[in-house]
Amino acid sequence: MAVSAGAVVIIGGAIVGSCVAYFLRAAGFSGPITVVERDPSYQYSSTALSAASIRTQFGTPVNIRMSLFGAEFIRTLKERFGPSADIGFVERGYLILGGPGTEAQRRSAAAMQLAEGAEIVVLAPSEMKTRYPWINVDGVEVATTARRNEGWFDAWSLLSLVRSAARDQGVSYVHAVANDLMVTGAKVTGVRLSNGTILAADWCVNAAGPSSARIVAGLGISLPVSPRKRTVFSIRAPLERTNFPMLFDNSGAWIRPEGAGFICGIAPTEDNDPDATGDFEPDHALLENALWPALAHRIPALEQLRVERAWAGHYEVNTLDHNGIIGAHDEISNLIFATGFSGHGIMHAPATGRGVAELIATGIYQSIDLSPLGFDRIRRSQALHETVVY
Ligand SMILES: Cc1cc2nc3c(=O)[nH]c(=O)nc-3n(C[C@H](O)[C@H](O)[C@H](O)COP(=O)(O)OP(=O)(O)OC[C@H]3O[C@@H](n4cnc5c(N)ncnc54)[C@H](O)[C@@H]3O)c2cc1C
Repeated sequence: MAVSAGAVVIIGGAIVGSCVAYFLRAAGFSGPITVVERDPSYQYSSTALSAASIRTQFGTPVNIRMSLFGAEFIRTLKERFGPSADIGFVERGYLILGGPGTEAQRRSAAAMQLAEGAEIVVLAPSEMKTRYPWINVDGVEVATTARRNEGWFDAWSLLSLVRSAARDQGVSYVHAVANDLMVTGAKVTGVRLSNGTILAADWCVNAAGPSSARIVAGLGISLPVSPRKRTVFSIRAPLERTNFPMLFDNSGAWIRPEGAGFICGIAPTEDNDPDATGDFEPDHALLENALWPALAHRIPALEQLRVERAWAGHYEVNTLDHNGIIGAHDEISNLIFATGFSGHGIMHAPATGRGVAELIATGIYQSIDLSPLGFDRIRRSQALHETVVY
C-alpha cells in the first residue's frame, strides 16, 4: 500500500478547507498540505449551493468578529489575489424584521453589535417605510440593518480564487474520498483514502461540511453536525431591485436580488427537518405552504411571482447550538474541526481558515480568539447559543 508523506491533511476542499490551506501558506507554513476532495465539481457542496451572503448581525460576539474579517477579506480581494479578482460583491445591509415584543431585545443586540464594530442601524416601522416603500410593516415592531460589511457575492468565484491561490503556493488537491482516520495513541497519524492510499498526517483538519460527522464516527466521536436540506427558489417579480436588501422577515422567509430577479427561501419547521443525507430534491411544497404567503404578506407586489428554478443544498447544522465547531479535539490534539456553521460557513470561512492556520502554525489563535467555538463545549454539551439563526 502506497504511503504518501503529508504534514497537514485537510478533508474537504470547498470554501472552508480551501481557506485553511490558503491561510496556512499565508502564515508561512512550509510543510506539505494535501486537500482531499471527493468531488472536484463541488456540485453537492454547501458552498456551491448556498445563498452566498454575509451579515454582521449575530447574537454572539465571536460570530460578529468573524464576519467583520470576512467582509474585510472580501473588500480587499484584489490586494490578495490580483487586480482581476472579482466576486461581484454587492455591499448592502441585511434588513432583519422583528415582530411584536422584540424591540427591547433587538435594540440591546444592536448595541452589542455596534460595540463589536458592526455598523448597525435600528429602524422604526415608519423609517422602514420611508426607505423601502414596497414593504408592508404590519406586525413589525423594529428592524435592523447595517451601513456596511453585509451583502452578497458569488461563492463559486470566491472558492475558485482561494483554491487556485492555495494551489499556486504548492497545496495539492487530491481527488478521493477520505474513508478513515488512523489514530495511534492520541494522535491522528494518517488518512486512508478510497483508492487505498494512506496519507501520513501530522495534522488532520475535518472540513467536510455536512459530512463531517461521518469522518469521525469511526473513532467513536459523536459530532453533532447533521445535513439539513434548505431549498432556494429563483423567482421573477414586478418589484424594483435598486436598494433592495437581503430581507429577513419575522416569519423566517428571506429574499434578496440575484441576477435579473430574486432568490428566496424559508427554513422548514423543526418537525420537518430530518437528516437529509443524499436528498437534494427541492421542497416545492415550502413555496406554496409557507414562503409565498409570508412574502406576499410582507411585500404585496410578490403576490405575482414566477418561479424560474429551485435547488436544494445542505446546511451543516450543529444541532447543539447552531454555531461553528472550530479547533482541536480534546483528546486527539492534532485532529482539528472546522465545521458545523449551520448556514453561515461561507461568510466565516476566511476567519476560520486564518484561525485554524494560526493554531497549526503557532499553537494559539493570534488574531480572533475562536476558542468559544471549541470542541470542549461539545464534549460538555454546553451550548453557545446563537440567537440570530436562519
Ligand atoms: C441553501 C443554502 C444557503 C446558504 N446561505 C449561506 C449564506 O448566505 N452565507 C453563508 O455564509 N453560508 C450560507 N450557507 C452555508 C454555507 O454554504 C456553508 O456553511 C459552507 O459552504 C460550508 O463550507 P464547507 O467547505 O465547510 O462545506 P462544503 O461546501 O459542503 O464542502 C465540504 C466538502 O467536503 C467534501 N467531502 C465531504 N466528505 C468527504 C470525504 N469523506 N472525503 C473527501 N471529501 C469529502 C465535499 O465533497 C465538499 O466539497 C448556505 C447553505 C445552503 C445549503
